[in-house]
Amino acid sequence: MQFEPLHSWLPPLKMPLLIAGPCGAESYEQLRETAQQLKNIEAVSLFRAGVWKPRTRPNAFEGKGEEALKWLNDIQKEFGFKITVEVANAHHTELALKYGMDVLWIGARTTVNPFSVQEIADVLKGVNVPVMVKNPIHADLQLWIGAIERIYNAGNKNIAAIHRGFHFYGKTKYRNKPLWQIPIELKTLFPDLPIICDPSHISGNRELIPHVAQKALDLGMDGLMIESHFNPSIALSDAEQQYSPAQLKVVLDKLVIRNSGSVNFDQGDQLDGLRKMIDEIDDDIMNALKRRIQVIEDIGKYKKEHNIAIFQLNRWQEILRSRSQWADKMGLSRQHIEKLCQLLHEESIRVQNDLMNK
Ligand code: PEP
Ligand code: MN
Repeated sequence: MQFEPLHSWLPPLKMPLLIAGPCGAESYEQLRETAQQLKNIEAVSLFRAGVWKPRTRPNAFEGKGEEALKWLNDIQKEFGFKITVEVANAHHTELALKYGMDVLWIGARTTVNPFSVQEIADVLKGVNVPVMVKNPIHADLQLWIGAIERIYNAGNKNIAAIHRGFHFYGKTKYRNKPLWQIPIELKTLFPDLPIICDPSHISGNRELIPHVAQKALDLGMDGLMIESHFNPSIALSDAEQQYSPAQLKVVLDKLVIRNSGSVNFDQGDQLDGLRKMIDEIDDDIMNALKRRIQVIEDIGKYKKEHNIAIFQLNRWQEILRSRSQWADKMGLSRQHIEKLCQLLHEESIRVQNDLMNK
């Protein structure tokens, strides 16, 4: 596959491409107020708003649909903004085209479903509207590539990928783990495919966004998509991660813009990429340790209530025996794992001791 560069889609897009706007289009007034304030930020060249919101549970704000497309049409005319909306099926796509949306994006929950992506691609045959494809919810690079291929096979070369992080079961500091090695691998396979980072959905909170956005720019990503609402505290979706346009401006001013476009991920510092992977693995390990301690506390409480001794020789021997076997099977050093088990066991005894003597 060969792709057109971002700046050829909708000249004169500024690079890196900055996409901003609310998570969801809630009302005409909300869009107008937000657009007016975003107009003061010169770097923003594409206005985003979701008109159909894919919510995890029902009875949440699900977007205003076609009505919102009419509002966005007015925003387009009044402020001269190019506009991008999410489409999740053929019907959405037909309507977005009918209302002259400039760029479409496919959301993470849609990329996972080849049937939906194909029906969108079928509507897009012969239509050269740019499409941005978000990564699927889970860390499946092939599925991401597959969705891009379906759009490409419809005859469209104006495609970008959006990296929005990956769902992880358990607590992490991110709403969606970035797993930077996945977009890096995508870029390595398709060096001319533009990749845009969505730090809002990776972070899930305003505090983390600057750090994630800077990382994306350091890697040479081609743009950022950041959610912005004129008053985030009343946002009907993703309130915690949206910036007011004024807050967004402060964040953007602090970002160090690398020479994107000329930098390729694969030309970047390989060692740095590998270190980022280690950072993420350590984050996983620490989250697992935290969960382990929580279970140990429950065990400690149980033992206290039932007057059971903390140290149980049988259980400890069984742990050492089974973990050594697992180590052999996984090709890990037995000695290393035994040492680790000792450490974990010591900490487990300490935590339970504290509890018993409370
Ligand atoms: C969004 O951009 O508001 C959205 C729903 O994102 P995602 O598909 O990444 O969850
Ligand atoms: Mn959102």
